[in-house]
Amino acid sequence: MKAEIISIGTELLLGDIPDTNGQYLARKLSELGVDIYFQNTVGDNPKRLSFLLKQALKRSDIVITTGGLGPTVDDITLETIAAFSGNRLILKNKILSGIKKHFRERGLTMPNINKRQAYIPQGATALENKNGTAPAIILEEKGKLLISLPGPPSELIPLFEEKIIPIFKKKFTLKEIILSRTLKITGLAESAVAEKITDLLRLEPPLTLGIYAHTAEVDLKITIKEKNKESAWKKIAKIEKIILGRLGEYVFGKDSETLEACVGKLLRSNKKTISVAESCTGGLISNRITDVPGSSRYFPLGIIAYSNREKTKLLGIPDELIKKQGAVSKEVASLMAENIRKIAPSDIGLGVTGIAGPSGNTLVKKIGLIYIALSSGE
Ligand code: AMP
Ligand code: MG
Repeated sequence: MKAEIISIGTELLLGDIPDTNGQYLARKLSELGVDIYFQNTVGDNPKRLSFLLKQALKRSDIVITTGGLGPTVDDITLETIAAFSGNRLILKNKILSGIKKHFRERGLTMPNINKRQAYIPQGATALENKNGTAPAIILEEKGKLLISLPGPPSELIPLFEEKIIPIFKKKFTLKEIILSRTLKITGLAESAVAEKITDLLRLEPPLTLGIYAHTAEVDLKITIKEKNKESAWKKIAKIEKIILGRLGEYVFGKDSETLEACVGKLLRSNKKTISVAESCTGGLISNRITDVPGSSRYFPLGIIAYSNREKTKLLGIPDELIKKQGAVSKEVASLMAENIRKIAPSDIGLGVTGIAGPSGNTLVKKIGLIYIALSSGE
């Protein structure tokens, strides 16, 4: 089964926004075992879109377009598909009343131009979009499937997961599936991680291991292409076990788990609380901690004490200590951690002070020098 994706929108073509729909669809399709050989981006231009459609329907079984289903004149996907396939656009009253309802539920009246979205190519099927006004459209063309999805990811993703995947599963016998597991590592550089698993990085398809470095994080992605889901997961588990054996304490989570969510999970299961006194990070640490739903259970307090005066006033760091050691020092970071723990109060206190740059370089203390202190009362 071969599929291809056409992302439509001049804003994508010119690089104003990234094509996250293309990325999402490509990943989902490959997980389903559908082969993707081509992915194209085209502006809001009927002639060039027709050209791509023609090419795509010749060489692929499934063609998915995203974008260009909006109500404005630059949204040309459906009229292009209609013209291309020799079908007329016809008004569907059911879609029209759905669009009207969408506005009514929000206390608005439908602007006249939204009526355009109720016109679909004759012979096509419309799938209701509960998160927006443009339905998804499916047209069968000589045994090929042409699917048009709306551009906003908040509409495209639910439509794809809830409506399109079930159609694929029913219509096609998808032979091989692709499964993957990502192990997330922190505290080790990419090269240090790679050194410990050189043999595994040489694995060949159908079972492979990839290494991807991000800021402060290294991901190891185990991927397998197989017919049988159960045996695929077993093989993945075997590799996972080997990796955990070699890198155990550096692996903090898996798949979509974030570092802050894993920290939160640990705090909750150990019934501990944490508070943060930060300077150079300007609230970033508190922000990440509070990004996790339910963090109020273990995060009572975060203070951003940016100036020396506030370090003294809010965190009780003696003026003399700052003068003697400097605000960026082991001593100040330690006292910040200890005092925030007592002020909150919480089981753990974190103190962070440093020179984030771009200015502030001195002869002894360079940009990038950061002190992180943890106080647990022990
Ligand atoms: P459209 O359906 O073309 O009117 O697109 C509506 C909005 O959806 C655009 O303004 C973008 O913000 C978003 N969008 C469209 N295509 C994509 C895409 N391929 N990836 C991510 N966002 C998109
Ligand atoms: Mg558009």
